Amino acid sequence: MVLDSLGSSLKSTLKKIASAVLVDDSLLDESIKEIQRSLLSADCDVQLVLDLSERIKKRFKEEKAPAILSQKERLVNIVYEELTSLLGGEKEEIKIEKRKPFKIMLVGLFGAGKTTAAGKLAFYYKKRGYKVAMLGLDTFRPKAREQLKQNADNSGVDCFIDVKEKNPVKVYNKFKNDLSSYDIVLIDTAGRNALDKELIKELRDINDAASPNETLLVITADIGKSAREQAEAFADNSNIRGVMITKLDGTAKAGGALAACTVAKAKIKFVGVGEKKEDLESFNPKGFVGRLLGMGDLEALLEKASEAVSEEDAKDIQKRMLSGKFNLVDLYEQMSAMRKMGPLSKVLEMVPGMGQLNISKDQLQVQEEKLKKWRHIMDSMTKKELENPDEISVSRIERIAKGSGASTAEVRELLKQYEKSKKMIKLLKGGDPERLMKKFQGAMKRGF
Ligand code: GDP
Ligand code: MG
Repeated sequence: MVLDSLGSSLKSTLKKIASAVLVDDSLLDESIKEIQRSLLSADCDVQLVLDLSERIKKRFKEEKAPAILSQKERLVNIVYEELTSLLGGEKEEIKIEKRKPFKIMLVGLFGAGKTTAAGKLAFYYKKRGYKVAMLGLDTFRPKAREQLKQNADNSGVDCFIDVKEKNPVKVYNKFKNDLSSYDIVLIDTAGRNALDKELIKELRDINDAASPNETLLVITADIGKSAREQAEAFADNSNIRGVMITKLDGTAKAGGALAACTVAKAKIKFVGVGEKKEDLESFNPKGFVGRLLGMGDLEALLEKASEAVSEEDAKDIQKRMLSGKFNLVDLYEQMSAMRKMGPLSKVLEMVPGMGQLNISKDQLQVQEEKLKKWRHIMDSMTKKELENPDEISVSRIERIAKGSGASTAEVRELLKQYEKSKKMIKLLKGGDPERLMKKFQGAMKRGF
């Protein structure tokens, strides 16, 4: 797999965090050291790694903890977020404009993977319904044009080459009209051993003639952190808009190369992960880091983090639950507040000892429906009834049912729930969370 060793070492750190009893300073330091080691052996720049460690530490110590996340979960989430921003943060895609043709020019040094990238991108965009052509402007290296033609055939797109002409601008002008009927034209250009004057001039001339909509710098991942210098050199001397990093499949240094381009302010748009035409991925830092860390395990946590409520909100609910006074108004308010806070299962995790409850989606759905009905029922009660639910008589139950469009059984169920909640709160105050948990579990299984 791509970035195998980086992925597995980061995963093992996260596992250690997840299985720790508590997150203290020594676990935090140890985890950060492990992350540093992983990133450094992926050839990430030392300063970048130190900055990232500092941010993780600072955030963990200073950020207010959302009550829904445990300390461990919070640490894992911070690590995930910081690694994501190390690799570029938000995804930025190439937007294909309708005006034909949309020209994507591939530039880079010898062997970077430009010609291969042309084939991959052709296949990628063809699959998405675009009419794609390739244009061979690498007139420098012998056989470069034939190689491009082969890749075009392999991807099933048209290819324009002139095997005799030495001047790339002349080749462009020759085919300019033919290209106008395509949605996307992929322009292959020549490389050199380094970005020298000759290459700079050649790329400028092509750029002036063809004015590409997007110029992608193609860089191999195996140069690790020195991708930064290369990206910056190209950025200074040509108008690259983004980067494609190739050969992620064959090197342990890919992490360093990805991070380096981000510092060079060169957005990574694609990555190459093999030699075949399918081996291309549109680069999305979030998804990439997610997979690196084992998304299956992370997904639920990230969802939870994004829904997390503030500590105050949570404290408020706990306080109310623990306060002596408890009538239907409180129940109503509690229920509404819980609803605002998201799924009941998450709210329960804030109560000591309740985090392990396993409540199914169906059970929660039933609970939601009930909440809605109870709201109508309570709306039909007088203030006195709400404050003294124990004194509601049979005839009053009938009246309330009529007024709310519910059945008398449903009104009774609400009153029963009130009784149960009252008992549960007593248990909670008595500090017997185990018994409470069993009760809650039973109540949830029955749909309250
Ligand atoms: P160019 O000189 O920039 O046009 O580079 P080429 O497209 O000719 O590629 C140089 C070599 O790298 C070829 O042997 C490709 O098969 C190989 N290559 C390109 N992209 C990848 C990739 O993502 N993974 C692997 N493993 N090899 C690649
Ligand atoms: Mg080439």
